[in-house]
Amino acid sequence: MYFATFSQDGREDIGILTKSRDKIVSFREILGQDAPETMLEFIENFNPNWLEVLENIDEARGIELEKVKLEAPIPNPRRGIICLGKNYKEHAEEISRAGGGQEGLPEHPIYFCKLVDRAIGHGGYIPVHSGVTSQLDYEVELAVVIGKEGRNIPREKVEDYIFGYTILNDITARDLQKQHSQWFRGKSLDGFCPMGPYLAYKTVVSFPPELDIRSYVNGELRQNANTRDFIFDLSYIISEFSKGITLKAGDIISTGTPAGVGMGFSPFKFLRSGDEVECWIENLGSLKNFVR
Ligand code: MG
Repeated sequence: MYFATFSQDGREDIGILTKSRDKIVSFREILGQDAPETMLEFIENFNPNWLEVLENIDEARGIELEKVKLEAPIPNPRRGIICLGKNYKEHAEEISRAGGGQEGLPEHPIYFCKLVDRAIGHGGYIPVHSGVTSQLDYEVELAVVIGKEGRNIPREKVEDYIFGYTILNDITARDLQKQHSQWFRGKSLDGFCPMGPYLAYKTVVSFPPELDIRSYVNGELRQNANTRDFIFDLSYIISEFSKGITLKAGDIISTGTPAGVGMGFSPFKFLRSGDEVECWIENLGSLKNFVR
């Protein structure tokens, strides 16, 4: 099952995609007056009884996807994004080669926060921010959405706390990232959080996820890996991060990026105005955005 936030005639709504993923049915059409209005509300008040109803939707009531604008599944993440740095071995190595910090692999997960003004959806524009950065970079990542509140979550229970998965492009201004010992600013400019195109319910993906993950710039393959290559897997990350920190329904954890970012090439291959960036993850769709 794939859920999405979309807008039509300036009105934002949420819905479920039909099996062929070419139409969307609004939750209001299915659940009537009781339908949640936002994805966060849907996740927070999630009722497992809805699943059967949602699975048996009348596809004829769907609106063609071409006729709506897909927004990020959660356009306004309540607490920013909890991000992982250097969670793939080959990416940690390419960053070290490019002079981006310490040699070797991290002994503990590197967590940082990405502030989000508004996450942009499939087809949205990534601002080039000329005058602020000249090293705009892309990072395809598997993002996990938490389904229920939990603290001190045991490793073997982690799957119960996951709602689903989406794709996140952790856009980064490398020059700003390197200027500051904290990455916060270089990761947080407006428009730096493309996300989507949908939110896949967790049953779409086996656990732990072993998904091919790729990015393309103007059709050229740049990143190509599998999420089984994580240095710290999802059970470890969610269990460890929740020690003493309450995770809430709707929180988003972005699990780090594979090798092949613009900074990993010599000479660098940073993004420029006019570029098209595509982030693709097996079973989760394709998130395309344009730089301008
Ligand atoms: Mg990242």
